[in-house]
Parts: sequence; structure tokens; C-alpha cells
Amino acid sequence: MKGAKLVLFITGKCSKSCFYCPISKERCDQDVIFANEVEVDHIQQALAEARLINATGMGITGGEPLLEVERTCQFIQAFKQEFGPKFHVHLYTGLEPVPIDTVEQLLEVGLDELRLHRFSVGQDYPRLRKVTKGRARLGVEIPVIPGMLNQLKNMFRQLDEIGIDFVNINELEYSELNREELKKRGLLLDPGTMASVQGSEEEAINLLEWAAIETQLNVHFCPLTLKDGTQLRNRFRRRAKNVAKPFEQITEEGLLLKGIIIPPPDISLIAASEILLNKYKIPLDQFWINESRGRIETSTTVVHRLAKQLKVKKFQVGIVEEYPIISRFQVSFVPL
Ligand code: SF4
Repeated sequence: MKGAKLVLFITGKCSKSCFYCPISKERCDQDVIFANEVEVDHIQQALAEARLINATGMGITGGEPLLEVERTCQFIQAFKQEFGPKFHVHLYTGLEPVPIDTVEQLLEVGLDELRLHRFSVGQDYPRLRKVTKGRARLGVEIPVIPGMLNQLKNMFRQLDEIGIDFVNINELEYSELNREELKKRGLLLDPGTMASVQGSEEEAINLLEWAAIETQLNVHFCPLTLKDGTQLRNRFRRRAKNVAKPFEQITEEGLLLKGIIIPPPDISLIAASEILLNKYKIPLDQFWINESRGRIETSTTVVHRLAKQLKVKKFQVGIVEEYPIISRFQVSFVPL
């Protein structure tokens, strides 16, 4: 919820084909690594991204991380070395059964928590419980598919007997890749939401209420608004604090707010920056030439102050908001 965990997407490869898989088309079946939104080639880049959000832990996901066990172990080891033993690492797997020697390997490099994200009879839960007991937390994290309440209750009863540490249930998510499969099964997008499947949240709440009375399980529900809203916003805020230039403001949403100035074709960016510096006495740390976007970036105060005068000289002036990520994806532009 605090957005304090790095999301390490260790590979897009996966041998399963769950109809509800929410992975993006770009990453599906691709052997790529992402640290949050940044594609990385080696561990150092992932460590740098973790520093930028002041990460206190990491969730390893995919694809199927255990198709790349060596790589996964190398990352865990490097992160534990860099940030210390308290840096909390959890890992998702859909493998069934999860090989016990693989779990041993993961525990040896410091894995703190194993989350099984499929429930199947092929899984050797008692053995997994035994090997992780006292060494790592063992949980199950699955989406709530409307219409499967009874199956889920059965599953919860079995997990209760095994003594699993926790169960996380997620609101089922519509994505580009699973849309057709969900539609085929009559699972529709909840109107007024970006990606929530109708009925998933209600069924999750029913399940929570039932589990509180009928089981000893420790159950958490994660709605999409939490994952795609609160968690992402908090992660953006953390990153923004470390990457904002002196003239960029951080919004409540964790976006970077600033002014932009685009000179007319007959005035170069350098010439325009000299005008700001010499004529309008804007200090050097209050603006920056963004060559790739063909503009000067500065504070909103500066553009508000100069808008009238610059527009007479055919400059374009406005205010933009950007994600505080490497691509600096621009979310809004308001011309002045
Ligand atoms: S196991 Fe996970 S990554 Fe693989 S298809 Fe299923 S949901 Fe997607």
C-alpha cells in the first residue's frame, strides 16, 4: 500500500495459460526484466531503481519467475547484500508442484515469503509448509472469479487445515490480453471502472465475511483501486521526491508539474534560454533545455509570469504533468 516495494518482473516466460492472466501483450512470453516500469539488462540497474523509490522490499513476479531460478536467486542475493537482511522479498509462482529443491535454493539466498498464485491439487502443500516453516511465510494469492464462490470456500477449508500463513484475494482484472477469454465466460467489465470485472469485488467481500466466521485464515482483499491507485500513486510519490528537478512540483498523485516554453521556429532553444537568463533574469537552476521534446522546462510560476510577454513573441507556453518515471510520460498539457 505504501508503494515501498520494488516490483521486479523477472521474466515474461510462463508455461501456463491461465485465461485470466493480466500480463501485458508486450511482456507476455518475452524473456525481459523490468524493475517497476524500467526495462533492465543487469542487476545494477534494478538496484538503482530500488534506490530511487527508497524501497524497503521487493515483489518478484512474471511470467513464471521459477523458469529462471538462477537469475531470480542472483537478484535476491544482490538485493539482500545491498539493502540488508530486513529488505523483504516475496515471490509469486504458479508452478505445480513447486520443486522442493528450488524452494531450498530460494530460502538459502534469503527469500522471505512465497506466494502461490494458482490453487491446484497438483501442489504438495503439506511439504511446502514443512520446508518453509520458521524460515519464510507461505501464502496463496489468487483472483476472485465470479461464480466460483463454492470452489473458493473448499479451497479455503483445505488451506486452513494446512496452516497457510495468509491468503490474498485480488479483484479480477480486465486486460488487453484476457479480455476475449473473460467475455467468452460472461465476465464483463464493471461500468464506470477502468479494469474491474463485474461481481468480483462483491464475491470477494462475501468470501472475507465467510472466512472470518468459518476459518482461522488470515485473509486480505486487494481491490484494483488499491493496486492501480493507492499503491502506484505512493510509488510515484516516492520516486518523484528523488528525481524532481528544483523547479518541478510534486502533485498529490505523485506527478511532476511544471511549465514549458516552446520557441518559434526561428529561435533556437539555446537562444531562448539566453533570453530567459539575461532578459528575464531566471536563475539557471530554474529552467532546463529538454532537447528531445524541443522545449524549455521551468516552474509554473515562471510561465505564469512570462506567458503574456512570450506569447506576443510567438512562443508557446503551457503547463504539463508527467509521470516521474524514465520515459517521463506526459499525462496532461494545459496551454496558457
Ligand atoms: S501462471 Fe501467472 S503468469 Fe502464468 S499464465 Fe497464469 S497468471 Fe499468467
